[in-house]
Amino acid sequence: METWRRQLQNSLTSAREIAKKFSIPLEEIRDIENEFNIKITPYYLSLIKSKGDPIYKQIIPDKRELIDHGLFEDPLAEDQDSPVNNIVHRYPDRCLFLVSHVCASYCRFCTRKRKVGDPTKINTRYIDEGLAYIRQHREIRDVILSGGDPLLLGDDNLEYILQKLRRMPHVEIIRIGTRVPCFLPHRITTKLVKMLQKYHPLFMNVHFNHPRELTPLAVRALNRLANAGIPLGNQTVLLKGVNDNPDIMKKLMQKLLQARVRPYYIYQADMVFGTEHFRTTVEKGLEIIQAIRGWTSGLAVPHFVIDAPGGGGKIPLLPQYLLKISEDEVVLKNYAGKIYRYKQPSSNGKLQVEELILTDIDEKIFV
Ligand SMILES: *Cc1c(COP(=O)(O)O)cnc(C)c1O
Ligand code: SF4
Repeated sequence: METWRRQLQNSLTSAREIAKKFSIPLEEIRDIENEFNIKITPYYLSLIKSKGDPIYKQIIPDKRELIDHGLFEDPLAEDQDSPVNNIVHRYPDRCLFLVSHVCASYCRFCTRKRKVGDPTKINTRYIDEGLAYIRQHREIRDVILSGGDPLLLGDDNLEYILQKLRRMPHVEIIRIGTRVPCFLPHRITTKLVKMLQKYHPLFMNVHFNHPRELTPLAVRALNRLANAGIPLGNQTVLLKGVNDNPDIMKKLMQKLLQARVRPYYIYQADMVFGTEHFRTTVEKGLEIIQAIRGWTSGLAVPHFVIDAPGGGGKIPLLPQYLLKISEDEVVLKNYAGKIYRYKQPSSNGKLQVEELILTDIDEKIFV
């Protein structure tokens, strides 16, 4: 049996096993199994150094998942934008195609808790239906395979989908969203990569939330993908007690770059039922961006976004760099807090030249 399949087979999958391993009273977490699956690969489990550390928090069920804080099953209203099973078509020219209901391990904060792990919600039976939808919708030029995790399909099933998509001339690019390089790097076999590279232009967005997840094994998997010419991006979820810290985030982004992964998004945690204990304030995300932008490589800076509740899509948020904008000038704050003036093109061709660096000015007069 392949190593990755053995990893899956030997995963922890019950509240009972978890309770025993981490000395948690079973009654605290027993009912969680009915709400959202439990699964942890032996590999990812081995990254836990102590109870409550940033790896543990992401993956070990917590009794707080059962508290009702008035959050939502489907905060992004994806089901509303789902014209056929397994497709979420929200934006004009691209769509999500949910091709697998399983993940290598289950993140306790998952936005798609309502679907992931449930074969009645995402099913390979619907794949041909999804392909037919994409085939008929010629405006779709970008297909994002998601789930669940597409890389938990066998090579042949995944290739079937890629092949069909590549036969549609309007599908310009294909993306795969996956947490496999983080949870199960063994899955990135040379055979898989050789298959994937037949379907270029193929992009991959991976999901790492903490620098400790970038182990030598994970980096090797990422290198394999990069060597196959697959541009790699990363999506991180901002999580309380895991990565809500500018130093940790900066380190994560720098380590990703070293593995040739370009940070793409940091998501404000969605308003998902049973995840209130993971949510941070929005200011925390802005503070993190401010601590990275300018202080390290621009390549290391992702977009900080809120996926708008109710289905508004991703909305980028930036710290306040633009202090004033008028017809004749903008006043800007740089990464280190200094203030500068940029003159707009003038209508009569002659600029009123003034101080460009506003050293002694209190920025508060602009906000
Ligand atoms: C995130 C997302 C996309 C892709 O958005 P990009 O900003 O292009 O990466 C597409 N469709 C849905 C429904 C999404 O949630
Ligand atoms: S890997 Fe993605 S889809 Fe799977 S449980 Fe984690 S967040 Fe959800």
